[in-house]
Amino acid sequence: MEFIYPVPPAPRTAVLVPWFRDRWNFPILMKQSIRVFPEGWGMEAARYQPAAIAGTSRQICALMPWRIPSLTHAVIVLARPQDKRLNDLDRDLFWSSFHVPVFEQIIGNSGELMAFECEAHDGLHLESHHTALTHETTCSEPCPCGRKTPRIGVTDWVESEHRIAACAR
Ligand SMILES: [Zn+2]
Repeated sequence: MEFIYPVPPAPRTAVLVPWFRDRWNFPILMKQSIRVFPEGWGMEAARYQPAAIAGTSRQICALMPWRIPSLTHAVIVLARPQDKRLNDLDRDLFWSSFHVPVFEQIIGNSGELMAFECEAHDGLHLESHHTALTHETTCSEPCPCGRKTPRIGVTDWVESEHRIAACAR
């Protein structure tokens, strides 16, 4: 399964994890404007001059001190189902560092997109019935983006919890 850019068409996008695989289970390293850098961020990724960067919250945190002039479109935070989800503090931090919209995605073990954040930025749409995510509170109200798929992590539905930014975790 390949990486899916949240709001197509994808600009030049650097993906910093080798999680996406074709049907023969080989890592997908390049598709149109999307390039995977299996080793994460480095000279090669910087030379690619990505307009969008996708990586784990840890990788995105590590990028905060860098100046990346080409980054003009989006930061996409990729997480496994068991990972901690982004909270408002994380989002504020990323916004103040990169000045681009943040999108969160949950990626399964075969690289499949399990849940994604749309342009409305209010919760993550569940792509299909994924039992791994059933512990999450699901909201079935229609989303401002027009999609009708259930969402998790919708603002009003999230129970208040002690907020610690991902970078501090
Ligand atoms: Zn939506």
